[in-house]
Amino acid sequence: MPPLTQFPISKVVEEKLIKLGITDEFDLLMHLPLRYEDETHLYPINDVPLSRIVQIEGIICRSEIIYRPRRQLVCQVEDGSGVLFMRFLNFYGSQVKAYSPGTRVRLLGEARPGFFGTEMVHPKCRVVREQEPLADALTPVYSTTAGLSSETIRKLIRGMLGRTLSNGDPHLAETLPDPILERLELPGFRNSVIFLHQPSADAPAALLERRTHPAWRRIKFDELLAQQLSMRMHYRRRRSGSAPVLLARNQLTNMLLESLPFELTGGQKKVVFEISRDLAATHPMQRLLQGDVASGKTVVAALAVLQAVENNYQAALMAPTEILSEQHYQKLSAWLAPLLAPLGATIAWVSGNQKKKQREIMLANIAEGRAMLAIGTHALFQEQVEFNKLGLVIIDEQHRFGVHQRLSLRKKGSGAFETPHQLMMSATPIPRTLSMSYYADLDVSVIDEMPPGRIPVVTRLVADIRRDEVTSRVQDACRAGKQAYWVCPLIEESEALQLKTALETRERLSLTFPDLKIGLVHGRLPLREKSAVMESFTRGEIQLLVATTVIEVGVDVPNASLMVIEHAERMGLAQLHQLRGRVGRSGASGTCILLYQKPLSENARERLKVIFEHTDGFEIARQDLRLRGPGEFLGSRQSGVPMLRFADLEQDMDLLDAARAVAEDLLCNHPEAARKHLERWLGRKSEYLQV
Ligand code: ADP
Ligand code: MG
Repeated sequence: MPPLTQFPISKVVEEKLIKLGITDEFDLLMHLPLRYEDETHLYPINDVPLSRIVQIEGIICRSEIIYRPRRQLVCQVEDGSGVLFMRFLNFYGSQVKAYSPGTRVRLLGEARPGFFGTEMVHPKCRVVREQEPLADALTPVYSTTAGLSSETIRKLIRGMLGRTLSNGDPHLAETLPDPILERLELPGFRNSVIFLHQPSADAPAALLERRTHPAWRRIKFDELLAQQLSMRMHYRRRRSGSAPVLLARNQLTNMLLESLPFELTGGQKKVVFEISRDLAATHPMQRLLQGDVASGKTVVAALAVLQAVENNYQAALMAPTEILSEQHYQKLSAWLAPLLAPLGATIAWVSGNQKKKQREIMLANIAEGRAMLAIGTHALFQEQVEFNKLGLVIIDEQHRFGVHQRLSLRKKGSGAFETPHQLMMSATPIPRTLSMSYYADLDVSVIDEMPPGRIPVVTRLVADIRRDEVTSRVQDACRAGKQAYWVCPLIEESEALQLKTALETRERLSLTFPDLKIGLVHGRLPLREKSAVMESFTRGEIQLLVATTVIEVGVDVPNASLMVIEHAERMGLAQLHQLRGRVGRSGASGTCILLYQKPLSENARERLKVIFEHTDGFEIARQDLRLRGPGEFLGSRQSGVPMLRFADLEQDMDLLDAARAVAEDLLCNHPEAARKHLERWLGRKSEYLQV
């Protein structure tokens, strides 16, 4: 698409356009109106509809500046049917002069009942001749930036449409085959764009407003299609690589299943099957496993690891924090070591925690293939870690990792020609629409049920001034043999945020409860101490654990049944849900007390309401998406994925479904159309997802 510089605009205007994200001619054409004003029609004053932007025309019969209640310009406009007042609270001398009695004007504004009679405050007012023709299309209103008027944008776009139309129009050519458009009942691209910039006077205003007009649907469909095409292309490209075939031999996996004190849930069985089938294929798995907090993803991961081991391939498990990686190491060692030992295989743990010597042994075990499972943080994928025969990579809490970290993983494959299978796990459930859209380059498995016997955590909202009640509650729980978390948001004093520090909290709680054993864990603690504290909490030696949000992800201490979260109003929904998921993990009921400080912002109030009312992670995610929008919600995933400007995933679900199907169809049957469509929509901006 030609850059804007080919286009007769000034440097100043160009810079403003860039601010609006418009860098080429296609961008400009896709700068679609926010709304429209109807200047195609004149209403008689005595019949003017209220509370709507409408146009009237008349002669100014009186004009004066009055000073009470404040200085303002008031003109009476008369059209033979009645009189209307126009008022300006801010005005220039030039306006006073222009709006003198006898002048014919057209006003565009909202008529309201006023003190003197019907009035328009600050209407758009234009001096006109008698019989001046009316507009023959609705007037588009564009979003702008300071220093660039909607009028300038209107002129630029009108000029461009004129030129595009006269010179056979390279920009607006159709990219989609006719039969597809017919089947979906979508209008042509070119007509849609022209229509949206210049809708006829009788265009259905409500459909345009709601963006459900067929022309809007066409644009949204094209946008969704471009996104689907780009992501499905990645999916196919990665799928075309080869991966080790890891057959389900059901030896070690069955042994694990038999040794577990529980039976897998139906949801777990379903995803285990999907993963097992993928592992046995010749191309690399690229699957995202979603399951709410505590739905039991770890055991699913363990079964996948065993399927790799059964085929003599290594597996790697990466966790976002040291605490979590250590916990995985312990848990998986308990489950798997007895099965691996008879095979002479071990589990390696790579941690910043380790002495150099110990770490070297671990690295050697991995490199020489004695360790069949390697567990660690992203340290696991640094240069010096070499695998002997890596067949499966599992990334826990994948949303915590950046694109680059995930990319570095894939390079650890067992040979130049083989890519390991990849399983990503996430406890941040992604609403279906969003996952179909932004995760279209992955296969998605969902654990859609919780292990039986879980009693939902009871959530209480308590204003900070009532913290005394909370402290005595904690004391009662601990004395009754239960364990509790006390979560503080930050470790260091930050006056601006007035957050209680974990250190202070610990001090204070120790004074209040001299008889309780209180531990402290936070991000700045040396790793060794961190894990020592976690261990004694797991063993029940510590009754109350004061912690920063380092315990947010994954930590699993079943006996902990009470959690207090300070300044809950500052935390995001996903974070609160994750934190709350740390309690009530055994059969016993859990309680989560959210302390908040007033005054609450509107948004904070909404968040607390959502977390109070819902325990289902999918519902919380849906609300989170509603409050934050997809850009923020998706976080780091966003980079590289084409974001949507026009389509609304809730409203346009049917279009998304269609776009997904058409993307597959085009890639298989009309690759040239697919290429053209992608080129138009993503062009040089397409930063394809690599992982
Ligand atoms: P998450 O999905 O958050 O990673 P975990 O894998 O840590 O959850 O599992 C949470 C707890 O539930 C663990 O203690 C785990 O052993 C237990 N668990 C997992 N699956 C089941 C099941 N089918 N029945 C009972 N308990 C289970
Ligand atoms: Mg987990």
